[in-house]
Amino acid sequence: MSRFLNERISGLKPYVPGEQPKEREYIKLNTNESPYPPSKMGIEFANSEAQIAQLYPDPDCKELTELVANELGVKKSQVILTNGSDEVLNFAFMAYCDKNTPAVFADITYGFYKVFADVNGIESKIIPLKEDFTIDVNDYINQNGTVFIANPNAPTGILLSLDQIEKVVKSNPNRIVVIDEAYIDFGGQSAVKLIDKYDNLLITQTFSKSRSLAGARLGFGVANENIISDLMRIKYSTNPYNVNRLTLGIGKGAILEKEYFKSNCEKVIRDREFTKNELIKLGFTLTNSSANFLFAKTDKIGGKELYLKLKEKGILVRHFDVDRIKNYIRISIGSAEQMQKFVLAVKEILEEI
Ligand code: PMP
Repeated sequence: MSRFLNERISGLKPYVPGEQPKEREYIKLNTNESPYPPSKMGIEFANSEAQIAQLYPDPDCKELTELVANELGVKKSQVILTNGSDEVLNFAFMAYCDKNTPAVFADITYGFYKVFADVNGIESKIIPLKEDFTIDVNDYINQNGTVFIANPNAPTGILLSLDQIEKVVKSNPNRIVVIDEAYIDFGGQSAVKLIDKYDNLLITQTFSKSRSLAGARLGFGVANENIISDLMRIKYSTNPYNVNRLTLGIGKGAILEKEYFKSNCEKVIRDREFTKNELIKLGFTLTNSSANFLFAKTDKIGGKELYLKLKEKGILVRHFDVDRIKNYIRISIGSAEQMQKFVLAVKEILEEI
């Protein structure tokens, strides 16, 4: 750290992404990526865009925004594309929180919310999940800040129903409620259909998980057009070319190859249920995940130890050194073959201890 760094930045604890080790081939079940490659059509589009990468991309992202809007059944003016959904989330912290408006979110949720609050100099109002890790929506009623809820939540995968989401949105008419739907395609019901009814609702989604584009960095926000224009103000005040040309191309393919997307989601859901059942047979307790990951613990071995032993066997999962969840590991759902190898490795570890 240099001696010039300001207090706000020097004092914050940056987000720690999951490991991306290069020293050996791992079965990577630690960052909720898709095990399936991007759509072939998308790769072709990206390839053509690469031929003209000397030109800036369209700052309005017109073509892809239209495709996304059509896909969701909303207007183009109700969508903003961003560099991963992390960017639109950060825009929401910048736009809708300040020293009098804290960010309100759960104690166990996406770790970046706290960092976005800190980097923007915003207070965090943290609401503990219930003992069973579910969200009690009554805790979010009539809030004095901007509400951020991941649905399904991370790293638990637990889903709130559309009715529960609506209850929160409806009970905070003078507050923005952000619903982070990064994992919604794996079994949840999106709140997108509520945006015409509530002018305080902002939904964020990503191409990183269900559309196999974590490496391309593409996400979006969906909301009433006034909210989208607020977020556009920030985009045009920070980085007008936030979504690059190659990503616009590959994203287009991801939307157009709809069958590929759907069948990948189905495979992930199938393999999640397979893995969950196998872990239950081995004595694990799991949350009811509607995401592309499982959150599991066993009395037989601690979370950190299990994570380390799996790593020795070439399998990476995620362990969080956070008190309430330190006995758990989070397992991203890979291919069927990877999940069979994972289950086998867990069995071996339990026999060895
Ligand atoms: N929200 C949640 C709940 C997440 O887990 C993630 C992935 N780390 C994101 C948002 C951001 O994903 P991305 O920036 O890749 O769209």
